[in-house]
Amino acid sequence: MGAAPELVRALAAIVGPEHVLTSPEELFVYSFDGTIERALPRCVVLPGDTEQTAEVVRLCRRFGVPVTPRGAGTGLSGGAVPAGETVVISTARLNRILAIDPANRVAIVQPGVTNLAVSEAAAPYGLFYAPDPSSQRACTIGGNIAENAGGPHCLALGVTTNHVLGIEVVTAAGEIVWLGGRCDESPGYDLRGAFIGSEGTLGIATTAVLRLLPKPPAAVTILAAFADVATASQAVAAIIGAGIIPAALEMMDRNAIRAVEAALACGYPPDAGAVLLAEVEGTEGVAAELASRVEEQCRAHDALQVRRARDARERENLWRGRKGAIGALGNLAPNYYILDGVVPRSRLPEAMRRVEAIAAAHGLTVANVFHAGDGNLHPCLVFDEREPGTHERVLRAGAEIIRACLELGGALTGEHGVGLEKREFFRWAFSDTDIENMARLRAVFGNDGAFNPCKALPAGTGCGEMAQRPFAVARAGSDAYI
Ligand SMILES: Cc1cc2nc3c(=O)[nH]c(=O)nc-3n(C[C@H](O)[C@H](O)[C@H](O)COP(=O)(O)OP(=O)(O)OC[C@H]3O[C@@H](n4cnc5c(N)ncnc54)[C@H](O)[C@@H]3O)c2cc1C
Repeated sequence: MGAAPELVRALAAIVGPEHVLTSPEELFVYSFDGTIERALPRCVVLPGDTEQTAEVVRLCRRFGVPVTPRGAGTGLSGGAVPAGETVVISTARLNRILAIDPANRVAIVQPGVTNLAVSEAAAPYGLFYAPDPSSQRACTIGGNIAENAGGPHCLALGVTTNHVLGIEVVTAAGEIVWLGGRCDESPGYDLRGAFIGSEGTLGIATTAVLRLLPKPPAAVTILAAFADVATASQAVAAIIGAGIIPAALEMMDRNAIRAVEAALACGYPPDAGAVLLAEVEGTEGVAAELASRVEEQCRAHDALQVRRARDARERENLWRGRKGAIGALGNLAPNYYILDGVVPRSRLPEAMRRVEAIAAAHGLTVANVFHAGDGNLHPCLVFDEREPGTHERVLRAGAEIIRACLELGGALTGEHGVGLEKREFFRWAFSDTDIENMARLRAVFGNDGAFNPCKALPAGTGCGEMAQRPFAVARAGSDAYI
């Protein structure tokens, strides 16, 4: 539908005309994220500071136009997809690291800074920012806060919420507030904690104070190959059961290994049914001892091959494979649909069997690349959207996989969020009272349904009347959406 000329003029008066995008080509770029949901925005606005962001939010409220915050658009649940004909507020220009403070071990950054840039800026001080999503070269701190992002190295150190001390927020009402602060402890209710993981439905983070940690003196990376995913899953349970919490414990299955080797040639054993990538950290002595214990558990659980990265180059190469795995899936099929469920670690073997059975029942190929130590599954259904009926099969299989995770005592999402994609599953996990309470929290921040509508909570809550019509939200592959 596009934006009304008077809205565009008013937005341009706040941010400058060059920072309001309205052409069909530009709008198309903002119509999707990393999943298969798509919807066109009315227009895209790129504020240059906190005050402009607040003014834009207030202006859109006055015009009665919904908004969607957006970082890098790497999200995997449709959170930044402008469902509901919204104005997209991009943080692309809010991309400065304001301070690295080694004495207090914090970084103060704007939300459009990429995750990796924080660790790069902290490195000269011997510090790093712990949450490391595999998308860290591209994804933003604002997006990480909104999704409470995790990553391979979050097993031992915790996810985003454990590393964000304070956030400056433009609330959905257009007010500028600070949640938390620069210190470890903040008095009062933990509204910082409530904001982290709220999927861009409470406001826009405009500055963040991030905890930095000292880099461990030594790290050892171990690659263990197994005949199949079930055997590798037993080894995961055994490693943790033996009291070892590696810094990272990641798994890839046969299809993922095949895709990675074809694209990146990282030296994974091409015939393995599954590989585990484990990393342990500490002083040289501690890291070496932990590595031996991890290797011992892998061998005791039928590893076909166990090897340590000999040097930093080999270690980097093994991680290059893991972090590039999703992109490498393009070697298997033109499209992928990546799921994000959680199961208790002890149920991993059963969960993996069920994932395989569900994919097979729908005639689909699945590749698994995931944070095994956390029990956080990422089954990737690979497909070709040009084949008639494939979309429906993919979506049905996806829903069954998430249902299976819940049946095994797990959760709807580990780190990618509910977004647009999983909100219809929300009732599988939450009662009406839970949902009502979450909707009330939104209202406290001023979200009357027009701030990132149709996200996280089920249709009808925050989606308003838009839930009733199939308007702009449609699955990719359908001709209806753009
Ligand atoms: C190849 C690949 C690998 C990935 N690996 C991981 C992984 O290991 N771990 C993981 O957790 N995720 C992973 N992801 C998912 C994704 O990168 C994360 O969810 C990331 O946090 C999204 O950041 P973004 O800047 O791209 O946010 P976007 O996709 O732009 O937005 C995501 C959500 O955040 C909201 N948002 C964005 N900026 C702000 C802000 N400033 N204030 C308030 N709300 C905001 C949006 O409205 C939306 O709801 C991966 C994605 C890809 C494509």
